[in-house]
Amino acid sequence: MQYKRILLKLSGEALMGDQQYGIDPKRIAEYAEDIKAVMAKGVELAIVIGGGNIFRGLAGASQGMDRVQGDHMGMLATVINSLALQSALEIQGVETRVQTAIKINEVAEPFIRRRAMRHLEKGRVVIFGGGTGNPYFTTDSAAVLRAIEIKADVILKGTRVDGIYTSDPEKDKNATKFDNLSFQEVLSKGLKVMDTTAFTLSQENELPIIVFDMNTRGNLMKIVSGESIGTLVNV
Ligand code: UDP
Repeated sequence: MQYKRILLKLSGEALMGDQQYGIDPKRIAEYAEDIKAVMAKGVELAIVIGGGNIFRGLAGASQGMDRVQGDHMGMLATVINSLALQSALEIQGVETRVQTAIKINEVAEPFIRRRAMRHLEKGRVVIFGGGTGNPYFTTDSAAVLRAIEIKADVILKGTRVDGIYTSDPEKDKNATKFDNLSFQEVLSKGLKVMDTTAFTLSQENELPIIVFDMNTRGNLMKIVSGESIGTLVNV
């Protein structure tokens, strides 16, 4: 296997499947199957999941809600998604733990780095819920932060697009895909990979990012096996 310890970032919106809101049971079951397959290869996998399918603090703020209050709701949305993914994985017989950045002890473990790493060593999927635990951050930042903390080899950003393009391929039919980019190239070309805070944190810590299409079955396995699909951003 190309990578030993991986952090997989999934957006909340990806969980909607064809729906406009919430969690599509079929989509989450497919994700769980793909995750089970790579776990069987002996990789260590941690997951950060977004909350955009349920609530975003910015959306609340645009309707007059206090931003911090909205972000708290967004963080709770990521916990809901984490529990849903945990459930889908357990149905597949995959051992998991959810650790949250905000304490909800009756529901999940609090984030404790050493404990998270121990779970990974024991072959459990660790799902980090609650983002960073702070308002004004995103789950991309949480994903990079946790990846660095647990010493992951790579962060895999699963999206519905199969990599980083010269422009938005959903809007521009002439857009072309990059196979490899340096952090510096992403910045100089003004490409969008993650929000600036998350991207800078990744760059400063030389944590490679692979952007790939998580909605094509088997793609996760291909990456873990070392096939170059998607776009790799590295130093
Ligand atoms: N959020 C936050 N702090 C964090 C991570 C997330 O306040 O560290 C809130 C924020 O309101 C955000 C929401 O949780 O909009 C959902 O996360 P995100 O937008 O990153 O989800 P995604 O776009 O990946 O679905």
